[in-house]
Amino acid sequence: MSSEHALVIATYSQRMRLRLADGAEVDARIKGKRLRPVCGDRVTATAIDKETDWLITAIGPRDNELTRPNVRGRVEVLAANIDYLVAVAAAEPRADWFIIDRYLCAAELMNVPAGVIFNKIDLDGDAPATRSELDTYASIGYDTASCSAETGAGIADVQRLFENRCGIIVGQSGVGKSSIINRLRGEALQKTAAVSGKTREGRHTTVNSVMISLPGGGAVIDSPGVRDYAPAMASSRMAAVGFREIVSLAVGCRFANCRHLREPGCAVKDAVERGTMAARRYESYKRIVNLTNQLSQGRSPG
Ligand code: GDP
Ligand code: ZN
Repeated sequence: MSSEHALVIATYSQRMRLRLADGAEVDARIKGKRLRPVCGDRVTATAIDKETDWLITAIGPRDNELTRPNVRGRVEVLAANIDYLVAVAAAEPRADWFIIDRYLCAAELMNVPAGVIFNKIDLDGDAPATRSELDTYASIGYDTASCSAETGAGIADVQRLFENRCGIIVGQSGVGKSSIINRLRGEALQKTAAVSGKTREGRHTTVNSVMISLPGGGAVIDSPGVRDYAPAMASSRMAAVGFREIVSLAVGCRFANCRHLREPGCAVKDAVERGTMAARRYESYKRIVNLTNQLSQGRSPG
């Protein structure tokens, strides 16, 4: 029996789908109960005599993890080794840029580059308000693209964002994430690999996440758990790390531990007053600080 390096491309309740070094895909299970591989993990696996299942014997070190607190308040890893995060907003449901900022905040905390996609431009062509928000994101270094998964307009720009990397797609329900993925795959009605997983697995129907290879290189991780992801932060101090323009402005604050709220000599507040930092982004920062404070107070009474 020889061991091979493999990539976890889908996780079901107790089973995994692996891609081996030669590109072949196999089903696998875990040796023992302690290993918890997730989509994107690089693992060591061994073929089992007279069985189609492979056995995962080790998980390689992770570059990063996308986590969220589960219902019991414990941290659950949804995917690993992500190269890129794409946050989707749309003409309908009405774009909520505060939610987009929370996703971008998550990307910053994971230390991965990110982009913002505005979908359904067939419904709302080039509204000045949307353009101005996208310009703000572009000015602080995020990729931006506008598209219509319905008509295909702008999809080539979206495709370029995923080129040669493994991206994860997030955004409010209904903004068109599945439709965008289907467009990228060029298969309008295919409802992703999750379905083939379902039929193959029979009773084990819980699909946690799946990595979908895109024509032209690159991949997108689609996960029911990831879709409506927003970061839960241990401390409101981490919120500042999630706003890249605040990180660069903060070096000019009078106090090294400035929280950019009511402190004098705050370079962030100055920038907002002078209009060099977007007021809406600053508002977003304050909301995340408040939200995190409320949550942490709720958890530890007194
Ligand atoms: P998800 O919840 O983010 O995965 O969103 P879906 O992909 O399921 O799309 C939600 C609805 O929006 C569906 O009815 C789609 O047909 C529709 N939709 C998706 N993209 C577009 C678009 O570019 N234009 C229009 N008009 N509708 C779209
Ligand atoms: Zn400050």
